[in-house]
Amino acid sequence: MTNEEIKQAGEVMIAAANGASMQFRKKGSENLPNFQTVTNPKARKEHKCCECRGVIQKGERYQSYSGHWNDSGFGEFKTCSDCEQLRDDFSVGTCSGEWPAFGDLSSDCSDAGDEWLDRMVSIKIKRGGKVMDWMLERLKEAKEANK
Ligand SMILES: [Zn+2]
Repeated sequence: MTNEEIKQAGEVMIAAANGASMQFRKKGSENLPNFQTVTNPKARKEHKCCECRGVIQKGERYQSYSGHWNDSGFGEFKTCSDCEQLRDDFSVGTCSGEWPAFGDLSSDCSDAGDEWLDRMVSIKIKRGGKVMDWMLERLKEAKEANK
C-alpha cells in the first residue's frame, strides 16, 4: 500500500466512524447506546471535558453526546475539540476499530504507547486538566531513552 492509499483508507474509516457507528460505550461497560444524539454546540459557559478533565472555554465548540444505555440509563458527555480529534486519530491509528469508552481515552492512550500519552498530556496541560506525576515521569524517561 502506498502512503496515499493508507491515508485514503484512514479517511474512509473516519467517515464510517463519524456516521452510523458512532456509538460509544461508557467507562467500565460493554454496552453500546440504544440511541444517541451527537451535536457540536458552542459553549454558553465553561464546561469540563470528560476525557482530559480540562476546561472547554465559553464560546468554544465542543462535542455534546447524549445517549441511553441499557445498563445505566441516560447519560451526557462533553468532549473538548482536542480530545475529539485525539479520539478520532486513536481509533484509526491503533486499528482497534473501536472507540475508547467515555472517560477512558487517557488510560487507553497510556496503554497504547508513549506518543499517544504525550498527546493526551499536552492537551491536559493546555486545558488545565490534572496531569499525574507518573505520566510526566514516563514521558521524561521515554525522551531520555530516545536521545
Ligand atoms: Zn479534552
